[in-house]
Amino acid sequence: MAASALLTVDDLTAGYGGLPALRGVSLEVRAGEIVALVGANGAGKTTLLKTIAGLLPPESGRITFEGQRLDGRPAHAVVRAGIALVPEGRRLFAKLTVRENLLLGAYVQRDERTRRQALDEVFALFPILAERAGQTAGTMSGGEQQMLAIARGLMSRPRLLLLDEPSLGIMPRLVSRIYDTLAAINRQGLTVLLVEQNVHAALALASRAYVIQTGRMVLDGPAQELLGTEVVRRAFLGL
Ligand code: ATP
Repeated sequence: MAASALLTVDDLTAGYGGLPALRGVSLEVRAGEIVALVGANGAGKTTLLKTIAGLLPPESGRITFEGQRLDGRPAHAVVRAGIALVPEGRRLFAKLTVRENLLLGAYVQRDERTRRQALDEVFALFPILAERAGQTAGTMSGGEQQMLAIARGLMSRPRLLLLDEPSLGIMPRLVSRIYDTLAAINRQGLTVLLVEQNVHAALALASRAYVIQTGRMVLDGPAQELLGTEVVRRAFLGL
């Protein structure tokens, strides 16, 4: 299985000002998978995504993507290597239009034709963004803004998409639209690492999942199997 690993995180430690948030975390994402990372508030999910994305330097451990070491590399180098992060809270430029936000996501593409093609592709995936191309991002609904955030991530044409809580604060109807689109993008070949507090939705979409508790991985396995385990049912599903 190791041969098909796209991303390998090995014994990773990271934190804030000496306070550890990740304590020896390991995880593997294989090409073509959707992997979910679930855990309670403050467990370290966002910290792991930020560390992979080069926004937080690790204290120790290794991050390998397509055979290339990424730990300690800056965020722009990680994007160029083929990884895009869709951050929690979306972080859009509210005063800029949909099109302008999208083009900012394509800053690593120097070629104008490639940027155009990326724009056409995300407009095909999210037709609402094509309709609203000239509208400022801040005036759109939460669900539309989440679609824009995902589309902006896709504009760098990543091979791995890191998604932080895409369903947060969004109406259930739109959550399922967004999840359907993620499944479609995955079928087209994009690999996804998904962080969620919406454990049911995440485990329904993912093929495998990891459970993180206070900075440590405590469980991993096929998503369907985890749904049946005692720790997941009690801690996350309220059963
Ligand atoms: P949430 O779902 O609330 O985002 P999470 O699982 O993503 O939770 P993290 O945001 O990664 O958790 O936080 C992990 C730990 O690191 C927590 O104890 C948190 O308080 C701490 N932490 C996160 N960001 C910072 C920061 N910028 N400075 C200091 N401590 C932080």
